[in-house]
Amino acid sequence: MENRFKFYNTLSRSVETLIPNEDGKIAMYTCGPTVYHFAHIGNLRSYIMEDVLEKTLRYIGYDVKRVMNITDVGHLSSDADTGEDKMLKGAKREHKTVMEIAQFYTEQFFEDCKKLNIKKPDVVEPATNCIDDFIHMIEVLLEKGYAYQAGGNVYFDTSKLDDYYVFSSQSEKELLVGVRDDVEEDANKKNKNDFVLWFTKSKFEDQALKWESPWGTGYPGWHIECSCISMKHLGEHMDIHCGGVDNIFPHHTNEIAQSESYTGHKWCNYWFHVQYLNDKSGKMSKSKGDFLTVSLLEEKGYDPVVYRMFCLQSHYRKPLEFSYEALDNIKSAYVKLVKRIQDLKEDGSVEQEKFQEYKERFEKELCNDLNTSMAITVVYDLLKAEMSDATKRALIEDFDKVLSLNLLTAVVEDANTGVDAEMEAYILAMIEERKAAKKEKNFARADEIRDILLGKGIILEDTREGVKWKKA
Ligand code: AMP
Ligand code: ZN
Repeated sequence: MENRFKFYNTLSRSVETLIPNEDGKIAMYTCGPTVYHFAHIGNLRSYIMEDVLEKTLRYIGYDVKRVMNITDVGHLSSDADTGEDKMLKGAKREHKTVMEIAQFYTEQFFEDCKKLNIKKPDVVEPATNCIDDFIHMIEVLLEKGYAYQAGGNVYFDTSKLDDYYVFSSQSEKELLVGVRDDVEEDANKKNKNDFVLWFTKSKFEDQALKWESPWGTGYPGWHIECSCISMKHLGEHMDIHCGGVDNIFPHHTNEIAQSESYTGHKWCNYWFHVQYLNDKSGKMSKSKGDFLTVSLLEEKGYDPVVYRMFCLQSHYRKPLEFSYEALDNIKSAYVKLVKRIQDLKEDGSVEQEKFQEYKERFEKELCNDLNTSMAITVVYDLLKAEMSDATKRALIEDFDKVLSLNLLTAVVEDANTGVDAEMEAYILAMIEERKAAKKEKNFARADEIRDILLGKGIILEDTREGVKWKKA
């Protein structure tokens, strides 16, 4: 397998060529959603870009195994171990049990993913399925001296590591250590960044989900689940770990601390992080209350795929600001693009040389740190290029395996045709009348109808699928 995919590795802070542990095979892990509420479109930006990453790797020939956890226990409202339990918060809000909340929002998450053409990972594992695995890893960490018990909880001892802040540069590390004294601390912790592996005697009296453990009845911390679930399905060596940039610290930092202390060797080679989707007031987040969901976009008349295109038009490592004006621009670009593509004729044959030339250009853009907007530019370029419609169609069908924008199949909504509903009803009635006139061999009337519509700026086209119309 030729190693030609380059992308930014947060761990080395540089763009690197992907070299898998096992030739041709990629073990990939994604931090899944905390299922206490709907995913907002910021979360989904991360999942869209991770989906493009997975599909690109498959497209260029890798065999990918992708695993995702579902966080249904242990995630407190602060990523450090403070604040409310997110799942309990959801259950209280909706007067339901934690498991009902988890099931409902897990289903909703995958519904949203489906609408955005995000492929379901090969393995999806809820944290509550793996309690024994967490307990085992914590036992080993205690045995090896990387963890300690205090105040009823089990903590990871970050002072046991030579390099805990693996993602930070030297100057950032100095800064991180420097702020220690100002931060409010859990009195049980030996070091400021120590984190909980297992909680007992829950600090939430109504904690719903609890399990027996060697340290008492309790529940796992959030970070341990990703270390265990990934190893359960991908083994002790992983190629790519993904998440949003907010996961870098403390979540991914803690995952590495646990996993490498447990195995005694390097765990994951490449870390892929997606930058924030922001709104005018900053990072989009669920705690802001009024957050944007896929359903809300649909209610406002946007095809979710337009949001996918919005994400693909910007680079995953740059913050992206959401606004309806920006989304409207993408929507009209999308509609025009789909119409141009769907106007391509279906006959003719595929010119292999041209096909290869453009396929290589498309791959080159994606292999260049996932330059999705330039990959879309290749679609525009090929539409303008000298080649048969059949070649263009074949290329677009091929590219859409990665872009997943329904470029050949989208039904462009009525609202996007550029005429109002009344006008559209009139056009459709005239088309029906013309059909009837033709059936009766009244070609004069049929031609007259065509001319009347042309006078109103509407062009009719007779195609194999029936009569199509468009604005002149
Ligand atoms: P959560 O459900 O809160 O655990 O988050 C799910 C994923 O969404 C994580 O990978 C986060 O890093 C990511 N994420 C959260 N907020 C944003 C945002 N505003 N923009 C992009 N990704 C985000
Ligand atoms: Zn995770």
